[in-house]
Amino acid sequence: MIGRFAPSPTGPLHFGSLLAAVASYCEAKSQDGQWLVRMEDLDKPREMAGAADHILRTLEAFGFEWDGEVVYQSRRSSLYQDALSQLQKKSLIYQCDCSRKEIADAYNQRPAQHGIDGLIYPGTCRHKAKIKLPHASRVVVDSNPIAFTDAIQGNIQQNLAHDIGDFVLKRADGLYAYQLAVVVDDFVQEITHIVRGADLLDSTPRQIYLQQKLNYPTPQYAHIPVASNTAGEKLSKQTLAPAIDVGQAPILLIQALSFLGQQPPNDLSTNSLSDIWLWAKQHWGIKKVPRQRSITFNPS
Ligand code: GLU
Repeated sequence: MIGRFAPSPTGPLHFGSLLAAVASYCEAKSQDGQWLVRMEDLDKPREMAGAADHILRTLEAFGFEWDGEVVYQSRRSSLYQDALSQLQKKSLIYQCDCSRKEIADAYNQRPAQHGIDGLIYPGTCRHKAKIKLPHASRVVVDSNPIAFTDAIQGNIQQNLAHDIGDFVLKRADGLYAYQLAVVVDDFVQEITHIVRGADLLDSTPRQIYLQQKLNYPTPQYAHIPVASNTAGEKLSKQTLAPAIDVGQAPILLIQALSFLGQQPPNDLSTNSLSDIWLWAKQHWGIKKVPRQRSITFNPS
């Protein structure tokens, strides 16, 4: 089995991203699998200078050992272009020059339809004769339900036409979209087990749809609850989640294991970092992770 951790270098590692790293690492290493690290640095404008190196140094200080070289999405555009061309050949791609306002206005007096990830694209450009520059590339979706069983969250089903609409694979500014890049990389890197935050659960059907259209296998998914602050907001750079302090690595690792439902014994904190990892790998069980999309993290 091959797992991965795929941080976006928009800021230093915080407790929320540590959880995804710990869970994906334990899932792979408890089964003698490989664990790869991939920097999702496609969105250069959102990137924070030095964050990628900082994340890698933090992972190292925590004792994570990744297999192979770290992959950087910013260096893999030709792979994403190849996949886009494959979809183009199947007539699944069209160009779109709609602005956000035009998308909202396209609903013509009717209230704009909000899906689970913003406005549902009403297909305006599907049959438009002339598209202005700059334009995005969208993939055509259909209304066949996409269903999968998540190892933590259970059975999930989505209807892309109803819940999302045709979605963007390449943005008007020329950047490849996360949904395309993640699917291509998970395939090229032969990832079999994806463990990540439940904030991405709603993206998974879009990714499975692309896998189906590109004839890629679908990996096994497990979405862990995201950590939220006491105001109910997901810990993230936007909510000013503090960077994790590597000086506190043993206690943070125990807090992460505890958040993930693994019930580490009280006296584990007197152990060295490597002994805590040993315990974690020996006792890891994905089925012990709580079946919730979000849990308040309140370190005591
Ligand atoms: N880069 C994404 C993030 O940091 C994770 C993508 C994934 O695990 O599929 O939220």
